[in-house]
Order: sequence, then C-alpha cells, then structure tokens
Amino acid sequence: MSSDSISPSAILRDVFGYGAFRGAQAEIVEHLIADGDALVLMPTGGGKSLCYQIPAIARHRAGKGLAVVVSPLIALMHDQVGALEEAGVHAAFLNSTLTLKDVQRIEREMMSGRLILVYVAPERLTTPRMLGQFDALHARGLLSLFAIDEAHCVSQWGHDFREDYLALDVLHERYPDVPRIALTATADALTRADIVTRLKLTDARVFISSFDRPNIRYRIVEKMDSRRQLLAFLREEHVGDAGIVYCLSRKKVEETAAWLAAEGIPALPYHAGMESGARREHQDRFLRDDGVVMVATIAFGMGIDKPDVRFVAHLDLPKNIESYYQETGRAGRDGLPADAWMAYGLADVVNQRRMIDESPAEETFKRVQRGKLDALLSLAEAHDCRRARLLGYFGEASAPCVAAQNVCDNCLHPPQTWDATEAARKALSCVYRFYQGGGQRFGAMHLIDVLRGKDTDKVTQYGHRRLSTFGIGADLSEAQWRAVLRQLIALGHLRVEGEFNTLELTESARAVLRGEVQLFLRQSAKSSRESRKSRSESRGKTGRARASMSGGEAARFEALKIWRAAIARERNLPVYVVFHDSALAEMAREAPETLAALAQISGVGAKKLEAYGRDILRLLSGER
Ligand code: ADP
Ligand code: ZN
Repeated sequence: MSSDSISPSAILRDVFGYGAFRGAQAEIVEHLIADGDALVLMPTGGGKSLCYQIPAIARHRAGKGLAVVVSPLIALMHDQVGALEEAGVHAAFLNSTLTLKDVQRIEREMMSGRLILVYVAPERLTTPRMLGQFDALHARGLLSLFAIDEAHCVSQWGHDFREDYLALDVLHERYPDVPRIALTATADALTRADIVTRLKLTDARVFISSFDRPNIRYRIVEKMDSRRQLLAFLREEHVGDAGIVYCLSRKKVEETAAWLAAEGIPALPYHAGMESGARREHQDRFLRDDGVVMVATIAFGMGIDKPDVRFVAHLDLPKNIESYYQETGRAGRDGLPADAWMAYGLADVVNQRRMIDESPAEETFKRVQRGKLDALLSLAEAHDCRRARLLGYFGEASAPCVAAQNVCDNCLHPPQTWDATEAARKALSCVYRFYQGGGQRFGAMHLIDVLRGKDTDKVTQYGHRRLSTFGIGADLSEAQWRAVLRQLIALGHLRVEGEFNTLELTESARAVLRGEVQLFLRQSAKSSRESRKSRSESRGKTGRARASMSGGEAARFEALKIWRAAIARERNLPVYVVFHDSALAEMAREAPETLAALAQISGVGAKKLEAYGRDILRLLSGER
C-alpha cells in the first residue's frame, strides 16, 4: 500500500470528494492516525463524522483492522452505513433491528478483517460475546480504533444520559493501546469533565471548536397570531424546504400539522404520544422525501442528521438557552443559509414561569431553572446581537454578527427602542389599585382593558371605571401594552399566580414605581414598509441558490433532483446520501462535460464518480 493512499487529504478527496478539511478536522485526524486519544467538542454540522471515518480508513489501509463506532442512535445507523457504502467504504451496523442471520454475516465480515467500520449500540458493545470478538481481533492486531459518538450520554448532567454508556470505560481497561475518540456537541464544562473521568480520557487531547453557526440566522419575532406568522414565514421564505416546527404540547403539534397541511404545506406531526409505527413512518418521510415540514414536540430531533433542514421554527418558548441552541442547531448542517425563527409573546413567559413554579421539583432545582429561563428571556428581549449573546452564554466571547454569513435579525435591522418607564409605572400602579384595600387580583387582559379605558362587562361588574388608573394608558395599543407586561414579567417585576394567571407585584416593582428603574423596550409593530423590506431582503438571501439560477441551470438542477430521487428510492436511502443539494447545484451550474470535470465537484468521490458519473453526464448533456 503506497503511503499516498493513507494520506488523510487523499482520502478526503478520493473517498468523500471534498477539497479541504474544515476547522480542526485535519489535526484531529492526524492525532488519531498517530495513535492519540481525543475528545472532540464541535457544534452540530461541524463535521464530526469525518474525524473518525478518515482515521478508520487510513488505519485499515495500513493493516490495522476494524474501527468500532459506538452510537446510541439506532435509527440512524442504517443511513450512516448506507452513506459510507455509497462512498465505497465497507461498513456495517450491529443493533437490535437485525435478524440473527444478518448478525452472523456481519460478524464474519468483522472477523475476516475486510470490514472497515462497524457501528454498534452501547448495550451490545459490552456483552461478553462482543468483547470476546474484540479480544480475538485485538490479539491479531486488527482492532484499529474506538469512536464514542454522542459522548455526553455518559454524563448524568446532560439530558441524554444512557446507563449503558457508563460501561464504556471497559474499552480503556481492556484495550489500552487502541486509540479512542469521544465526540459531542454538548459543550458545558461540567459535562466535559464528566466525559473525561467516566471514559478515562485523562490523556486525551481536547479539541474545542467554536460553537458559532455562521450560516444560521437567529430571528425572534413578537407573537401576534403565531399560526399566520408561521405560514407567512414559510410561504415567503421557505417554499419547498424541509424544516422543523417545535410546539410545546402534543395537542398543539397535531393541530398545527393539520392546519399547515390544510394550507397546502406538506406537514407531518411527531410526538411521543403517537403510535410508534406512525412515528417511524413520519420520521422516514422527513428524512427521505424532499421538503417535508415536521411539526413536533422536543421528542423529535435527537440524532436527526439530515443536512438540508432549512429552518427550525419555535411556536413556543423552549425551556432554556441550551435547548434553544440544540434545537435550532438542527438547521443548516450542510453549511448553506438556514433560519432559526421563533415567535414569542406574553403567554410564553407566563406559561414557562408557571411550569417551573408548579413543578414538584425541589426549590434549589427550581431556582436553577428560573435562572436559565431568565437568560433565555433576555435573549428574546435583546436589542443587540443574538449571536453574540448566545455564544456569550456558552462562555465564548464574540463580536456581533459582522463576520457571519447570515446575520441575526437585530444586526440586520437594529431595533428601535422607546422609553417605557412611564408606561410600566402606570401598569404596576394599576395592578396595585386592583387589590388595594382587600380587592381582587386580575389577569393581563383585564389590566389592559382598564388601562386603555375600555368598557367591558368586567369593568362594569367591578366598578373599575372609578379607579384613578382607568384610561390612563389610552395612548398605547393593546400590542404595546402586552409588550410592556411581557417585559415586566420577564424582568420579574410582576408575578403570575394561580389558575387564572392573575398578576401580582413583586418586591422589585417598588423601584420601578418610584421611578428608580428605567425600562427600554423594542418598538413593537414594525411599520408595514419596514417589514416588507426585510422580507424581500431575506428572500433574496435564502432563495439565492434557486432564484439566481439561469433557465438552463434551473432545468438541470430539477432534472438532477428527479434522477437522485429515483436512485435513493431504489437503494432505500435518503436523497442526501446519494448527493447533497449543494453538489447537485454545482453540477447544474458547471455542467461538466467530462468525468474529470465532474470529479472536481465537491461531494463527488471516486466511487460515486464510477457508479453515477456516466449517467450524470448523459443527463446534463440532454439539458444543455
Ligand atoms: P456533525 O456530526 O458534527 O453534526 P457531520 O459529520 O454530519 O456533522 O457533517 C455535517 C455535514 O458536513 C455532512 O453533510 C458532511 O458531509 C459535511 N462535511 C464534513 N466535513 C466536510 C468537509 N471537510 N468538506 C465538505 N463537507 C464536509
Ligand atoms: Zn447579530
């Protein structure tokens, strides 16, 4: 075997068809090839898989045998192995979905030394049978490396703790000379320390990448009529795109999916209360078909590595910034522009606060949860760069979006603010008047009616016309008042109580009432001209790939997509395993006429060139 064929950049080019490593990939790969252990922290879409796949190929070519990949994501193994085999890399998976006959066939491949990578579920890895096979391979020098994917599952601090991961320290004890690489997208210091101790990775080199996702545009809009806002967002910016819409409850998932479907958007529901067959079918359709919108609770998403998710929308506020970042991180793994869009309003603040207050957890735990919610609320209310705030939360200093491909909403259109101090004082004193002298407490709707001097049954019933605060806020619209109250609750000057969400003053409200605190709010309800402008601008950005294509190019792109869909169906694989959209777009643009020219396109490796090259050239020449 020539030394050239085990060079990482040659493997990157010939097998995967990529021109250059990204970020720390090259260093990590070299380190593993040189027998080092590594802990890799990289954001979703950063390119973790190549960090172990390329060393696995290089080490196999150097006669070092099999690489073992531990992954908890059984549902994904099939597609990952399919993608490797498509690229000409002999790989297999072992998990509970296989028949005994299949297992035996794969075990034979493993023991023969032919197999390059095997993906194994953690509970299977530590069985006596599996360890016995590893022992035999190890004795023959044919155990080349261990990759532990989703390594945060070993930590009880993380949200995905897996009992079986604790047993993985056996790998170090039993095979101390076999290099190990642990990978995760969960960055916090506590989890990181836990991974190192529990997996006995004290000697591992730690590679920490920036967690910035420069291709994601963060956008948080004021909730008015969230369904309509969502529909407008989809119709104006994401026609035909795949995406995820997160809702808090199962009921809302069902209703939103049905409503979108009725509006002609290919939307499917997904939540843990659904029958498992239907759940699997919806997930498969999301992965395999083009442009499906998945409406889901947070039960959906773990281990979804579909690269072309063009947007993640939140119709409800997530629990904290960690969840928000993980969920939005599922957009744009392929590096092309993607949107993280959220509609956020008064009711979200009220609900999340109440969920914490009413949970049966201990007070110390609740305090932590409240602190995390506050951090998310200040992100939502922020007037400055969302990206800088997000990264700052994870301990990464960063400048505003200037260097990002896809700047956040606040950087794109710096929001106008207004001094809401006086309005806040009016609202708080009105709440005070309600229960002064033993009166009742009321919710936000009634408060706004009284402030705006509206004649309602409730106003009459409680004689609230007589309050000195009746009508003192007629100068502001209902939406503006909702924004003021949302801020007051978010900042903790108002507390929401009981089953009717009644409002109560907190200790800190006093300082506001005395005029000691200034309150600046973002100007709500953009003028229609402004919002039209921002819409057409963002359409120009996200739709650039398709919109800027010439007629011939667009026709080639569509023809290539139809061809790809047929191949994917034939092989029972998602379309992106055959070729990414970005590869098809480049083919359509360049319209190569020779195999050599086609091989230059990013994502076209030697095996795919051989398998599909001629078909593609023929197809392109027909569209010229
Ligand atoms: P992660 O597991 O970190 O979320 P993946 O390994 O799935 O990310 O990679 C994300 C996407 O980026 C994949 O589609 C992969 O093919 C692509 N990719 C990774 N490294 C490179 C590279 N060096 N050049 C081009 N594309 C890459
Ligand atoms: Zn920004």
